[in-house]
Amino acid sequence: MNCDLLILGAGPGGYTAALEGARAGLRTILVEQGFLGGTCLNWGCIPTKLFLGATQTIPELKAQSRLRIATGEIVVDLPGLQRRKRTLVQATRKSMALRLEQTSVKLVQGVGRLTGPNTVAVESEGTFQEIRFTSLVLAVGSRPAFPPGLVRDGAHILDSTDMLDLEEIPPHLAVVGAGAIGIELGQFFNRLGSTISLIEMAPSVLPAEDPEISGILAWSLKRQGWTIHTSTTVERVATTDEEVQLSLSTGKDVRANKVLVAIGRMPNTAGLGLENTTVNVDRRGWIATDESLQAADGIFAVGDVSGRALLAHAAEDQARYVVRRLLGRTTEPYRSMPVPSCLYGEPEAFRAGKSFRELLKEGDAVKSSRYQLAASPVAQAFGSSHGLIKVFWSNGKVVGITGIGHRTTGLVTLAEVMVNQGWDREHIHEIVVAHPTMDEALKEALLAEQKEISS
Ligand SMILES: Cc1cc2nc3c(=O)[nH]c(=O)nc-3n(C[C@H](O)[C@H](O)[C@H](O)COP(=O)(O)OP(=O)(O)OC[C@H]3O[C@@H](n4cnc5c(N)ncnc54)[C@H](O)[C@@H]3O)c2cc1C
Repeated sequence: MNCDLLILGAGPGGYTAALEGARAGLRTILVEQGFLGGTCLNWGCIPTKLFLGATQTIPELKAQSRLRIATGEIVVDLPGLQRRKRTLVQATRKSMALRLEQTSVKLVQGVGRLTGPNTVAVESEGTFQEIRFTSLVLAVGSRPAFPPGLVRDGAHILDSTDMLDLEEIPPHLAVVGAGAIGIELGQFFNRLGSTISLIEMAPSVLPAEDPEISGILAWSLKRQGWTIHTSTTVERVATTDEEVQLSLSTGKDVRANKVLVAIGRMPNTAGLGLENTTVNVDRRGWIATDESLQAADGIFAVGDVSGRALLAHAAEDQARYVVRRLLGRTTEPYRSMPVPSCLYGEPEAFRAGKSFRELLKEGDAVKSSRYQLAASPVAQAFGSSHGLIKVFWSNGKVVGITGIGHRTTGLVTLAEVMVNQGWDREHIHEIVVAHPTMDEALKEALLAEQKEISS
């Protein structure tokens, strides 16, 4: 079989590349070894947000009950929620398959392996077929990583994929890793009644984010009853039928019924046949790409496997760029600005543009302005006014916006537009923001006094 564009992996990156390529008239083949939708649809963004969305009223009602405005308890039917998830995921896979068919993308089910600079062999149930390509997009994604000594057993020591299929609520859940995945899944199980112990090697939760955002998040999680161990590693693990005992570097022990290991991800490059090409991996194992996302002549890598940003919208954006590049519609290098990101749960957090750390590293004169959500009528209405919006400025232009608090993820796109378009203070006066909304908090943060920042 021959094609113009061959894609390995049908997650957000590969699926987007396939649709864009076929729409532009390229003979496109998409190879997937598992389910359409990849990690995002099946074990990532969609199930986690379904779980958090379905239980969002629990922290909202708790906040109102603290204010003595409401009382009551919500009982969640976890097996029922699992059934709903399966229905939603299966229906979405079906509609994706239909869309591929309508767009004339040929879907080949099987495991793809590079056998030369222009050939891939696809194996399915012991049979092989060879596909010759003009251009190849590697969009094979990533999988959970485990630290030495903490081995997944599928019963007690679990990864995020296992956690998303649990039918029973663990009374005590230990979460190793305080990134977005650990915090979102911990929040979901905490809402269902699990006691959470969070163990993080770095000195703060969400270690890649602004220290103030991390601090507010830690405060909120502790208020929800979490025990947080930062600057801590797991030294020893002892498992019985009932529980796991984690001995920590601080000398403390944590006993839990389940342990979620969410310390990061690793690329799906094993067995991909990269040795048959000139594709290189970087020192952490991610596929190395140049400024046009090219890994070798005619071979591109998008999404998680390139290690640039482990987010679904990053994979999609990279895929669109690669197809535009192949079609000659752009000769620009791929964007250097970070993509926006969100943390869901209670509180929510977001970031558009550069982080505090990136800005400090670059050494530019940076100022910041802020707004505390305590004064926001919307945050007050939800009884959840602990949070802030922070804006970073360089040469009078907005270069980064971050925030944490109730429903703040709704600000991320407006923030991204402001950063992307390099807004200055005068631009803010050109828009009218409706009252009362969370957008007002963003506007207030932009108009507040700007102060020099330092480490
Ligand atoms: C718990 C969790 C929550 C998340 N929440 C969010 C979120 O809220 N927002 C967000 O933006 N991101 C989120 N992410 C990250 C997001 O899921 C990933 O960034 C995204 O799925 C990456 O897309 P991708 O196309 O690069 O790879 P993937 O989605 O991993 O897809 C890769 C596909 O390639 C297939 N494949 C692998 N090897 C081969 C081969 N040799 N041949 C054929 N097929 C192959 C795999 O089966 C898979 O289907 C979350 C991730 C997790 C784990």
